[in-house]
Amino acid sequence: MAFENLTSRIQTAMKTLSGKGKVSETDLDETLREIRLALLEADVNLKTARNFIKQVRDKALGAKVLEGLNPSEQVVKIVNDQLTAMMGEKAVPLNKSSKIPTVIMMAGLQGAGKTTTVAKLANRLKDENHARPLLIAADVYRPAAIEQLKSLGDQLSIPVFDEGVGENPRKIVEDGLKQARENKNDYVFIDTAGRLQIDQVLMQELKDIEKMAEPDEILLTVDAMTGQNATETARGFNDALGITGVVLTKLDGDTRGGAALSIREVTGKPIKFVGEGEKVTDLDVFYPDRMASRILGMGDVLSLIEKTQKDFDEKQASEQLQKLQENTFDFNDFLEQLKQIQNMGPMEDMLKMIPGMANNPAMAQAQIGPKDFSHMEAIVYSMTPGERVDPELLTPARRRRIAAGSGRPVVDVNRLIKQFKQMRQMMYKFTNGKGGLPAGMEDM
Ligand code: GDP
Repeated sequence: MAFENLTSRIQTAMKTLSGKGKVSETDLDETLREIRLALLEADVNLKTARNFIKQVRDKALGAKVLEGLNPSEQVVKIVNDQLTAMMGEKAVPLNKSSKIPTVIMMAGLQGAGKTTTVAKLANRLKDENHARPLLIAADVYRPAAIEQLKSLGDQLSIPVFDEGVGENPRKIVEDGLKQARENKNDYVFIDTAGRLQIDQVLMQELKDIEKMAEPDEILLTVDAMTGQNATETARGFNDALGITGVVLTKLDGDTRGGAALSIREVTGKPIKFVGEGEKVTDLDVFYPDRMASRILGMGDVLSLIEKTQKDFDEKQASEQLQKLQENTFDFNDFLEQLKQIQNMGPMEDMLKMIPGMANNPAMAQAQIGPKDFSHMEAIVYSMTPGERVDPELLTPARRRRIAAGSGRPVVDVNRLIKQFKQMRQMMYKFTNGKGGLPAGMEDM
């Protein structure tokens, strides 16, 4: 998961500050030096990191936070605000044309996730806006790319325009746009060719397509896993082509995440979406403030709730939320959630969006696979209806009975009950607006 190291290093740097009774300018500089190193290690661009530290320092000293109450808490806030500002402050939606179709031209190096992103975006527009997109396959150098787009289009029932690999890309786009106008498609996505690196020929071809298609949006896909190169790629494409936005892909992978922090500052162009998996639904709007909270280990609960709402049955989700608020959430609901969560991707990624969890040592044990789910289910099924509603009934003798009934050791039963209680308590606090700072940061 992205940002793991960055989060823990920033938290450690901040802790040094909070350990002190009074914070001096030297203490602040020491902390900022650590944060700067953490940013560089996370592949944040050098100039970006330097600017960031300068801004935080100026703000902290300017606002005289060191002399006020809770200086370390205030520094956390400044760091949070500055991270948000660096990533562009607000989410920026896709450009939309006043006449149809809105034309979105995709660009990016080979393997960055361009074709996958076309499918994700078109599918999102279709689902949310009832859009009728057309996808144009203009990557004629890789026959597999056209097949890939066609197969994604088939799966999603979204039409794909192609003329095979024999035609000139500019002509394909021209013909595709003509068809889109005839069929009144409201969005057109142009899947262009990529190369292993930026070169003249590629850029010229993209410029030719741009000139002819006059796109409303030129979206660049960059692979977050490529570290510093992701930012450099964005700079290169922006200088040569003038992009309007970025989709940062593979943020689910083991990336250090620096590109998310540098791209806006280096190119002046917003990251509009992030790709967080290979599935067609693994695309999220990029919210700078949420991302900043996530980087600081303060969780990304809003995204979690949105994801939950999207993947869960909405009615059930709101019932569960109400139960959490009223603290009447029981094992039956827990079981229901477990079932739903199974369909939602790696548990570990979900848990990390909860405040304080990103850096919680318990995360090391949080890798819950399908087998663990069935064990948890077996344990809950071995409880009586009364026990499922009231965990306080679960005396040691009953726990032993449940262990025998489910075929799991007593320690597993105890662990599950503990997890359930912790989750209920944490969610209760959170849904009632008593979240506070996450563990490890509350004393800052
Ligand atoms: P293109 O050459 O730029 O069109 O790249 P593709 O769309 O073919 O993607 C290259 C590979 O990256 C494929 O295996 C995709 O499944 C994978 N991919 C794309 N986006 C993501 C993402 O957000 N997360 C992960 N984990 N994989 C992705």
